[in-house]
Amino acid sequence: MASLSNGQSESFVKIPTIKFTKLFINGEFVDALSGNTFETIDPRTGEVIARIAEGKKEDVDLAVKAAREAFDNGPWPRLPGSERGRIMMKFADLIDQNIEELAGLDAIDAGKLYTWCKLVDIPQVAGTLRYYAGAADKIHGDVLKMSRELQAYTLREPIGVVGHIIPWNFPSTMFFAKVSPALAAGCTMILKPAEQTPLSALFYAHLAKLAGIPSGVLNVVNGFGPTAGAAISSHMDIDAVSFTGSTEIGREVMQAAARSNLKPVSLELGGKSPLIIFDDADVDKAADLALLGILYNKGEICVASSRVFVQEGIYDEFEKKLVEKSKSWIVGDPFDPKVRQGPQVDKQQFDKILSYIEHGKREGATLLFGGKPVGDKGYYIEPTVFTNVKEDMIIAQDEIFGPVMALMKFKTIEDAIKSANNTKYGLAAGIVTQNLDKANTVSRSIRAGIIWVNCYLAFDKDCPYGGYKMSGFGRDFGLEALHKYLQVKSVVTPIYNSPWL
Ligand code: NAD
Repeated sequence: MASLSNGQSESFVKIPTIKFTKLFINGEFVDALSGNTFETIDPRTGEVIARIAEGKKEDVDLAVKAAREAFDNGPWPRLPGSERGRIMMKFADLIDQNIEELAGLDAIDAGKLYTWCKLVDIPQVAGTLRYYAGAADKIHGDVLKMSRELQAYTLREPIGVVGHIIPWNFPSTMFFAKVSPALAAGCTMILKPAEQTPLSALFYAHLAKLAGIPSGVLNVVNGFGPTAGAAISSHMDIDAVSFTGSTEIGREVMQAAARSNLKPVSLELGGKSPLIIFDDADVDKAADLALLGILYNKGEICVASSRVFVQEGIYDEFEKKLVEKSKSWIVGDPFDPKVRQGPQVDKQQFDKILSYIEHGKREGATLLFGGKPVGDKGYYIEPTVFTNVKEDMIIAQDEIFGPVMALMKFKTIEDAIKSANNTKYGLAAGIVTQNLDKANTVSRSIRAGIIWVNCYLAFDKDCPYGGYKMSGFGRDFGLEALHKYLQVKSVVTPIYNSPWL
């Protein structure tokens, strides 16, 4: 079974001091108009880290007013793309200079592994900013030959004031997946972090100011979904909303947008992603991949490989490998470099996952290992694998968003494709095989936005990412993401006496 490391984190790294707790509106840190604050909690202990200003509708209104003014009359959308890019590069350099503090904020606020944040998440967000900084002066339209005496050109103009609403599982990655392309496009914006993880976004707002991003361009308003979040999605003066979160709330955001000013919405939502492992796979490597796919970020990742389908010829051996490997999987303090899995983000998520585990047992699935909380404080859960899972069981259909795998057996490639597609979601899928034809057939047959062949969770800034089916629509990352923040205008002129047809 997974072992617990509950060392004192102070002996590993210095926990960052919390410097920013207010709202960031029009280039300044300000209290909420109501004066209200809320607690952000350390998931290692359940104790309060800090009190954060709680934004509500009136604070969102102020932030939108600032963003509107910055868009309609400010320099940002009017700067040459290269100049916006230069400022964004400076922003990225400042992130590099503060990596340890930023990694510490995400680790303490979300229970994420400190080392991973330091080596992967935070350097990657600086890379994302630089990628879009480089794209800022390459945004252009086309010239169109219409009919004999008409020509048109298209302009790609910034869409205006954007509202970003993000979840808690990747506070930094989500922040920059949204903000970087929107900044490059010349938009101004308001971002609402998840109420569970308000800290790093405020630090980024501070760095944005230091980098020279003008007042009003980037506003950060912490607060709760039904108040601050709903005020964004229903706002008459926000021109587009980019949302990442659950399918249930995505639907509400879309309804609010439709009821207000018909603003376009992009939705990155939940998933129940399949990983298909064929008989010809290297079983040892496949077991590593499957564990990583479900346990990375304690299963709190929308693309978690929560349904693993293994072909019958290697199924028993695969099961044994999983059990063996799970024994060295250390659950504990995310600041401890030996630890591979930290605590779930909060008590609500912890309770939800444990109740799904109980449900799985009641439905008749068998616990191969795990299933229990770890330790006597904080929100730690054992890596958990169910076997004897039927496809229609709740644990094979619902997004659990925790370290819980449903392991299933299949016979033929056709069976695997059918089972993999047996979900309302369509975010990601993985295939492990040495047979290129199989990999190609399955890649094209699965209805999901990203397919990993012989790898899993392989992300980078230039690779578009988003959902099919009820996992949403619109893409983050890659040049695709720029389109969410641009709109196309066609300008048509007559052409007289052209020498060419
Ligand atoms: P959530 O939907 O509860 O919350 C997401 C955000 O929406 C938060 O900022 C929240 O405050 C806000 N919100 C809540 N109610 C709102 C409302 N009525 N109006 C407007 N905003 C509202 O999701 P979560 O629990 O924070 O995150 C987990 C979910 O996010 C999972 O379903 C996961 O799959 C999904 N997710 C998807 C991706 C992706 O790229 N597809 C990435 C990460 C997480």
